[in-house]
Amino acid sequence: PTSILWLRRDLRRGDLPALGAAHHAACSDDGPGEAAVVFVVDPALWQGAGDARRAWLAASLEAADAAYEGRLCVREGDPVTVLPRLAEELGAGSVHVSRETTPAGRRRDGAVAAALAEAGVEWVETGSPYAVGPGSVLNGEGAPYKVFTPFARAWRDHGWPAPAPEPEGLRLAQVRSDRSAVQRLQQARDAADLPDLSEAGEAAALRRWADFRDGALARYGTDRDRADLDGVSRLSPYLKIGAVHPRTLLADLADGRRHPGDGAERFATELAWREFYADVLWHHPTSAWHDLRGSLSGMDYDDVGDAVEAWRQGRTGYPVVDAAMRQLLREGWMHNRMRMVTASFLTKDLHVWWPVGARHFLDHLVDGDIASNNHGWQWVAGTGTDASPYFRVFNPVTQGLRFDPHGDYVRRYVPELAHLPGKAAHEPWKHADGHAHGYPERIVDHAEERREALRRHDAARG
Ligand code: FAD
Repeated sequence: PTSILWLRRDLRRGDLPALGAAHHAACSDDGPGEAAVVFVVDPALWQGAGDARRAWLAASLEAADAAYEGRLCVREGDPVTVLPRLAEELGAGSVHVSRETTPAGRRRDGAVAAALAEAGVEWVETGSPYAVGPGSVLNGEGAPYKVFTPFARAWRDHGWPAPAPEPEGLRLAQVRSDRSAVQRLQQARDAADLPDLSEAGEAAALRRWADFRDGALARYGTDRDRADLDGVSRLSPYLKIGAVHPRTLLADLADGRRHPGDGAERFATELAWREFYADVLWHHPTSAWHDLRGSLSGMDYDDVGDAVEAWRQGRTGYPVVDAAMRQLLREGWMHNRMRMVTASFLTKDLHVWWPVGARHFLDHLVDGDIASNNHGWQWVAGTGTDASPYFRVFNPVTQGLRFDPHGDYVRRYVPELAHLPGKAAHEPWKHADGHAHGYPERIVDHAEERREALRRHDAARG
């Protein structure tokens, strides 16, 4: 018999329980059958992905194809029709997946499972992109957690299985790909000018993890907020696409003796944030694009205009904001501290509703993820669960001086400020030649806009 493994955001071969399930389903008394591994380019998702994410997906699929010995089949179209047709073509009795947990993914999977059932094909979900499946961590009353710290505690207590071994005797089917899909992926890969595309895939993810684990992890607790240092793992693009599973990382961290200091603990806590936000989205699907808490529903927001465009392009006149926004455009990635600073700037200095910024981030981030991104935005905007209070307004100058103390991060991304030494790069307006090379003046006065944000906040709260 033949079974189908449908890959979505689990583009790897190692530690993939659904692969074991597909192999198992393909085995009969007569011996092992074949598992067909397929990825479906779904126009509905493809169109909304943004160039950077599409390019990263294409590069990651290329790497996954190599990991599956050139046998990854790529098809194009609505999965509701593509999968039943493929199952018929191959005479497959089951389709295996990792469970999808976003609102759109859940809707789509429900429709695909129904279409397959009609065709007499079994739908089997095994595992998910998270250590603990979203929806599984509940409090004593059987309700979801609203606050991160107790969630993280219960999440650890819940625990997760050990990494899944590669199934023994696995045989992969050779299935024709759609030529149009292959071409589309190739074009997407060539269209984006991102530095890290050659580093896509599972092997690269594991290499990066090993480098980080044996290096920066020991100082992660202190360095993770420093935008100028290589203090974080930069694994988010791999986690997003499933080139590595968090369970693999957590298993590696479990041996406390190998990881002195609090780095390993802090890192596991950051992974827990990823799981928390997926859990929040599971219980509150509308929180993807609407305020989770209604307390700011009367807020007076500004329309999207020139100031937002300046923010998008990294031309606000606030060096650290501009460096970060240009890092996003150039690399498809931004440092976590800078995501908070730039999100605060849009929501509190420019008084714009957070979904406008969340959309821009999703359009450009390689790791763009609806749960982590949109709840990260809600955290900054003060509308989410366990969010930063609205009155916490990041000061873009002091944040820069603190988390880029020598100005290196600013100079790396803002060439017009390259002539200002050290921390002078954070306050060009204090230097006679600060704006000599075309760096823009500040588009707003932070102190004034902070007062304005608090005034609007008070008015909204009545
Ligand atoms: P590390 O510091 O090495 O952390 C390891 C992993 O932990 C990350 O890869 C990520 O999976 C997880 N993690 C760390 N911090 C967070 C967090 N605050 N929330 C959720 N997970 C976290 N993360 C995304 O993966 N995709 C997004 O689209 C995204 N958008 C964000 C938008 C805003 C406004 C904010 C404030 C945060 C956002 N984050 C997002 C979270 C965080 O900024 C990134 O995960 C992190 O910067 C990725 O870099 P890293 O892999 O080097 O992180």
